[in-house]
Amino acid sequence: MWNHGSETGTEGSPGESPGESPGESPGESPGDRPEERARPWAGAFWSSAVRRSLRSTVDLLLPPRCLSCGALVDRQGALCVTCWSGMTFVSDPQCARCGLPFDHDPAPGLGREMHCGACLREPPPYDRARAVLRYDDASRRLVLGFKHADRTEAAATFAAWMARAAPQLVADSAVIAPVPLHWRRLFGRRYNQSALLSQALAAQSGRPGLPDLLVRHRATPSQGRLSATQRRRNVAGVFAVRAGHAEVLRGRRLLLVDDVMTTGATVGACARAALAAGAQAVDVVVLARAVRD
Ligand SMILES: [Zn+2]
Ligand SMILES: [Zn+2]
Repeated sequence: MWNHGSETGTEGSPGESPGESPGESPGESPGDRPEERARPWAGAFWSSAVRRSLRSTVDLLLPPRCLSCGALVDRQGALCVTCWSGMTFVSDPQCARCGLPFDHDPAPGLGREMHCGACLREPPPYDRARAVLRYDDASRRLVLGFKHADRTEAAATFAAWMARAAPQLVADSAVIAPVPLHWRRLFGRRYNQSALLSQALAAQSGRPGLPDLLVRHRATPSQGRLSATQRRRNVAGVFAVRAGHAEVLRGRRLLLVDDVMTTGATVGACARAALAAGAQAVDVVVLARAVRD
């Protein structure tokens, strides 16, 4: 299921609605965490008992609320049934390169990697991009709540969703890093939501996370009304690998994390900066991506 924190799997969560594949959230299965692997079973038992009791204490103090609408739900980090059913999760078939979902499989049964027209015309600088959700009214509300309403507790849930949407990208990554915010924006918002996602994904997957790998040299004007070409110009040369981090990146595969991908101009510019600094390849995972109709 897609909900985070489901250890028993019997709580009647929205994650168990028909059509969703079952399974534990990444980072929650016993034995997955390095510290538990290193200990005998008793250690795992106590640490999960402590986690459970901490969670009930937190639940008493802060009753769990839907990450999108704020309705009461049965545990932290979940969506209510209504919000869950309003989300459109991206699934196969999709462009092997940019993750654009196809309405139908263009070559059913062939198992071939299919690319969309845009990627065939002009392959993006990243190897593969994957998204959890389609960016629409429902996911916009979720993303905006995360960005502006201090719903930072959602990061663990979203990271678990990302790991499920892009398991191969996570498995292949040597470094996980976010799309950076300019410090002035960071000051206004207090946290970079992409950095929270990136760090949660790194922690859950046991991969090295480098929240300050990339720097943004200037704050770019809002890209809301710009065309794809304008967006690309808008962010060209804006990002760079922070001095001192190029060595970590050299010859390694980077997994870049962002909250929303619209035309891919921003993640493309970040990928170019990472490749110029010596990264072997760049993949991208986002919470939501716009889908051209
Ligand atoms: Zn809700
Ligand atoms: Zn594509």
